[in-house]
Amino acid sequence: MMELNLHEKCPLCGSTDIRKKFKKASFTLDRCDNCTILFVKNILTKEEINRVYEEVFDHGAYDESNVEGLNFYYERLKKEIDQQCQNGGSILDIGCSAGQFLDVMQGWDRHGVEISDRYAAIARDKYGENIFSGNIEDYPLESGPFDVITLQDVFDHFTDPVSVLAKCRHLLKPNGHIFIKVHNIGCLFAKLTQSNFYAIIPPVHLFFFNVKSLSHLLENSGFSVGGHKFIPHILKLRTVFYRLAGESQESFYFKIYKALRGTFIGDKIYIRKNLHDIVTMYAQKNDAALTMSGSGEPTNSRDQLSPSRSVGT
Ligand SMILES: [Zn+2]
Repeated sequence: MMELNLHEKCPLCGSTDIRKKFKKASFTLDRCDNCTILFVKNILTKEEINRVYEEVFDHGAYDESNVEGLNFYYERLKKEIDQQCQNGGSILDIGCSAGQFLDVMQGWDRHGVEISDRYAAIARDKYGENIFSGNIEDYPLESGPFDVITLQDVFDHFTDPVSVLAKCRHLLKPNGHIFIKVHNIGCLFAKLTQSNFYAIIPPVHLFFFNVKSLSHLLENSGFSVGGHKFIPHILKLRTVFYRLAGESQESFYFKIYKALRGTFIGDKIYIRKNLHDIVTMYAQKNDAALTMSGSGEPTNSRDQLSPSRSVGT
């Protein structure tokens, strides 16, 4: 019989105020009453994690056919970054995949970290030695410091988000910026669908954030949260029906998906979606935090960022 290792307290804030929320497949999901994070209570072994990554890279959303959908989001994020950091500089994209986001960040000194050798090789063709193939944990600190770090669609995967943020802090310049994009389980869609919400896929995702839990974690990790946005996405019409079908190939939606596949309407018509199911939070490295060196100058980094707001509907 395999030994079951379970988190006995919240892996993000350390509170023991945790209680069972869902059971999904063979995993237990607990919620922390202190910071509101929902997390996979089971502690995975390195082998289990590696197996998950291999499966994810076999059928990711990063194929060529999804380029337009990704770019729609990336262009908007770039605008956001350019607004916050008007002098440009250096950027590190953690989980950079084949470098699609770096591709839109023209004018920046572009760096990336990618765990999949296959994707990292594609990115390295474009950005050479600036692409590191491996874990963020193994990324050399000497590669920094950076003006901006981005984490998109990777932060829900980490086994230890606290140590990832500590590493990011070391890799950032004073007052450096961080942008994190995650699924938002605080949205109405997630509340209605509960454990069937499409992002609740343990052990591919290990943490399930909302605006409160993500800002709580950032503030506790030495960052000042500047705000968050619900940047809209676009999906191919056929993908909308594919998602609606869930896992059922018998469903009416799946029949529509099959009918649309390969047709002009199914492939070329895009639906703009903003269910607030994806949130992008931005924060600045707070250099006064985590040091107990007297009163000093208060950091006004918060004032340099525009207030929290959401765009689009
Ligand atoms: Zn907590």
